[in-house]
Amino acid sequence: MSRFFSEKFTDLEAYVPGEQPMDQQYIKLNTNENAYPPHPAIAEAVAAARPLNLYSDPECLEIRKTLAGRLGVKPEELVMTNGSDEVLNFAFMAFCDSHIPAVFPDITYGFYPVFAHLYQLPYREILLQEDLTVRVEDYLNAAGTIFLANPNAPTGIALSREQIESILQANPYNVVVVDEAYVDFGTESCIPLIREYDNLLVTQTFSKSRSLAGGRLGYGVANPEIIRDLETIRYSTNPYNLDSMTLAAGKACLENDDYNMANCRKIIITRKRTAAALEKLGFEVTPSSANFLFVKHPALSGEEVYRKMRERGILIRHFSVERIKDYNRISIGTDAQMEALVAAARDIVVSC
Ligand code: PMP
Repeated sequence: MSRFFSEKFTDLEAYVPGEQPMDQQYIKLNTNENAYPPHPAIAEAVAAARPLNLYSDPECLEIRKTLAGRLGVKPEELVMTNGSDEVLNFAFMAFCDSHIPAVFPDITYGFYPVFAHLYQLPYREILLQEDLTVRVEDYLNAAGTIFLANPNAPTGIALSREQIESILQANPYNVVVVDEAYVDFGTESCIPLIREYDNLLVTQTFSKSRSLAGGRLGYGVANPEIIRDLETIRYSTNPYNLDSMTLAAGKACLENDDYNMANCRKIIITRKRTAAALEKLGFEVTPSSANFLFVKHPALSGEEVYRKMRERGILIRHFSVERIKDYNRISIGTDAQMEALVAAARDIVVSC
């Protein structure tokens, strides 16, 4: 830390992303990317993007229109961001302050507490139940801005739309942010509720179901007033938050969305098969609706499983957080990658 760093950040613990080794020596199952490459039309669209000597379109008009058509909403119900991390960042800025705490589960996406610390916001963590599910009753009259990943990460466990709706109804004076980063792998989206609930903000991303993690494209969906608040923050931060190549890639990606949704269906099948194979080896597997599994083995520590997988050339994600330190999160790769994962797991279990 330099001697110039503002005092307010001296205790800030930054978010730690999963490892991104730049060589291909690992089977990489640690950051929930999509195992399938983006549609080939995307490379062509990027090559033909708006000339880079010009600024990108700050209104993101074309992609907003295309995405609005795809989601069945209006362009003014959408804000486009640099990954969904950015719309979440904007939501913490826009809808929390010293009187309005952020409220989220104790086990959830690790960026939420980082944003709360960054903006020096009060926040309240609500314990997940023993079985790692969210207890809906704990979020009724939460007296703060609620952030719920649905399905949750890293557990993969989802709430139904009806359960989220009861949280929306019980918190009419606060925004409820539903982070749907993994929604396309088998969870009901809350987007159809945005016209009924003016306190709902749904966030989604192209990183997982649309194979564009490196493109950094996310968005928020809400009633136009919430969107205008987020636009005020966006224009006060970086009106050119999306570059022309990403805007072109995103549009081409949506024009080939059948390809993306077919990949999601493949991933769901691979997830089911992998979960069953790991359960046969004695692993406990949470019921995941995401493109990852959250698993632990009664005879092995989470750290041990992580280390032994790494020795066998497989990267998975271990969290040192006390309550989940015996678990690992395993992204769903191709069938061949998951067969290698299951073979390594068998080897590790047999030799323990
Ligand atoms: N929400 C959750 C629950 C996530 O796991 C992630 C991925 N790390 C994100 C949001 C953000 O992803 P992105 O910025 O790539 O859209």
